[in-house]
Formats: sequence, C-alpha cells, structure tokens
Amino acid sequence: MSDCLFCKIIHGDIPSKKVYENENVYAFKDIYPQASEHYLFISKNHTKDVNELVTSGNELNHIFAAIKDFTENETELAKNGFRVVTNMGKHGCQTVFHTHFHVLGGEQLSSFGK
Ligand code: 5GP
Ligand code: ZN
Repeated sequence: MSDCLFCKIIHGDIPSKKVYENENVYAFKDIYPQASEHYLFISKNHTKDVNELVTSGNELNHIFAAIKDFTENETELAKNGFRVVTNMGKHGCQTVFHTHFHVLGGEQLSSFGK
C-alpha cells in the first residue's frame, strides 16, 4: 500500500534497522523500544490487522516460523524467553495499520496488565 509506513520500510523508502528477512517476512528494531530487545515482525503482504491477516493464506504461519527461526538461531531470546504482542484497533492501541507482531525480551518482563 503506497501510503503505509511499514510498506515503505519493506521497500526501503524509509530506513529501518533490519534484523531478519525472508521471502514473506521482514523484521526490524522498533524505533521506541519497550524492552532491551524489541523487534517488529511484519508480512511483506499488506493487511491492516491480525484479523485480516488470518484470512490471508499462510501469513500467520510465515510470521511465527520467522520468529522461531530468528529467536532460536540468531538470538538468546528462545533460550531465555520472550513475548509476542499484536495490538488491534483503538482499544488495543494499534497505531500503525500494517499488521505487526512485537517481539519483546532481552530482560525479565513484568507480568501482563493494562
Ligand atoms: P502499535 O502501537 O501499532 O502496536 O505499534 C507500532 C510500533 O511501531 C510502535 O511500537 C512504534 O514505536 C513503532 N514505529 C512507529 N514508527 C516507526 C518507524 O518509523 N520505524 C520503526 N522502526 N518503528 C516505528
Ligand atoms: Zn503496509
């Protein structure tokens, strides 16, 4: 989508700190990290949120397979534990409407709340 921030990041029109890429998935460092490691995993195919993504072929599997590959083989995250979050819509505080999965870790996280 031409006016989508994350589509522009995928195409290199806006710079990002890439940490992982394959045919279907792109991942980069979040610009405002909420943990000592904070990455965003996105599908190269534009969808606006996770409920749209699940109706779009195998996108969800591609994303979680990429997270598994990255966290197991390129970081200590899988060994030490991490969190995956996706925000959806207004109450979920979604601000970028290209489906993305936050991967947070690198330190002890607090338990989940509001
Ligand atoms: P949301 O609030 O939609 O779940 O998450 C959007 C995330 O995108 C936020 O954590 C925010 O820090 C991150 N973000 C917004 N703009 C940029 C950007 O231009 N570059 C990068 N790397 N992250 C961004
Ligand atoms: Zn997009």
